[in-house]
Amino acid sequence: MKRQIFTEDHEAFRQTVRTFLAKEVEPHYEQWEKDGIVSREAWLAAGRQGLLGLAVPEEYGGGGTADFRYAAVLGEEFARAGAAGIALGLHNDIIGPYLTSLATDEQKRRWLPGFCSGEIITAIAMTEPGAGSDLQGIRTTAEDRGDHWVLNGSKTFISNGILADLVIVVARTKPEGGAKGLSLLVVERGTEGFERGRNLDKIGQKSQDTAELFFNDVHVPKENLLGELHGAFVHLMTNLAQERLAIAVGAIAGAEEILGQTTRYVKEREAFGRPLARLQHVRFEIAELATECAVTRAFLDRCIEDHSKGELDAAHASMAKWWATELHKRVTDRCLQLHGGYGYMNEFPVARAYTDGRIQTIYGGTTEIMKEIIGRSILD
Ligand SMILES: Cc1cc2nc3c(=O)[nH]c(=O)nc-3n(C[C@H](O)[C@H](O)[C@H](O)COP(=O)(O)OP(=O)(O)OC[C@H]3O[C@@H](n4cnc5c(N)ncnc54)[C@H](O)[C@@H]3O)c2cc1C
Repeated sequence: MKRQIFTEDHEAFRQTVRTFLAKEVEPHYEQWEKDGIVSREAWLAAGRQGLLGLAVPEEYGGGGTADFRYAAVLGEEFARAGAAGIALGLHNDIIGPYLTSLATDEQKRRWLPGFCSGEIITAIAMTEPGAGSDLQGIRTTAEDRGDHWVLNGSKTFISNGILADLVIVVARTKPEGGAKGLSLLVVERGTEGFERGRNLDKIGQKSQDTAELFFNDVHVPKENLLGELHGAFVHLMTNLAQERLAIAVGAIAGAEEILGQTTRYVKEREAFGRPLARLQHVRFEIAELATECAVTRAFLDRCIEDHSKGELDAAHASMAKWWATELHKRVTDRCLQLHGGYGYMNEFPVARAYTDGRIQTIYGGTTEIMKEIIGRSILD
């Protein structure tokens, strides 16, 4: 089915993203996978190409568009290229909204130009060794010392953890406040007592620097409070819908790409004297996956459209997230099987899609938490 949500301008932007991937990402990707990290130069190149801060006002060097369809185009093309390691989507779609919607004018002047040029790479640190799905269990504390906070605690699984120059840290600012005792504090590279731990050894997304972060008596100036004091939970809930949609957008695009590649593969590969594509089982596999992708695509495009108009609610974003990421898991698993032994070789994109994609049903809120959110919206 022909997609109907994009205009010529979106498609022109798609070409810009493809050119960027071909020139600045694909030639270096294998090296980044070996290094466990991408180069800062690629971030600066993304800044020069206008791929960072699409929704940031132009006065700070951003793209100045609230139209989420541009972000969707970028996420789709990165997913199709299998370039999960360079987390522009996290920077733009997940962290960007916190800075554009919550920062004061002074903070915007301080952070947004670097955010858009690629000189300030960002991360968000919610998860702790003892608190992931249940953010109320956060133990990192920030003690009020008049003109600054003293931050103590540790975070884990933080994307861009090694490269990040600016980290939004979720910390407890009121000991007994439960969900209403958390605030967002911005910690900048070089602040004394802010240390990075290991670049974690993962089964996929090898070039993504996912790391532990430690905060030992870190003095965070009062000017680095982001949003409302004790207001983090509400800020997180507001922004998580876009995070979930962005993950879903990448998941369906990645699934479609792998299905396309597998379709070509089964037409070429022969067994028992004819192409695999002539076997009924293979035909049914492709037919089922194509149907699932087409149905999911229709829902996702509607979600993208709704979100561009500011109309997507948390429950529908959660539906998109769990459905599309679980679909990606099924598609990559069954397509890997259709590749036989070649599917297990890293040189075949399906192999990397299988391992890179596995995290998608976990981060940004697990499938089970998504179902909790949807269930609550219907039943409570
Ligand atoms: C590669 C990677 C990148 C990440 N990037 C970031 C990042 O940039 N910033 C950040 O803050 N975090 C990040 N995370 C953390 C991620 O968001 C968490 O791992 C995720 O939210 C799950 O938390 P957890 O690992 O503590 O699992 P747990 O919360 O311990 O969950 C374990 C299992 O229990 C299930 N479960 C938990 N509660 C319920 C419930 N109420 N009902 C039913 N089942 C439940 C879960 O679904 C899961 O299956 C990242 C993780 C990874 C692996």
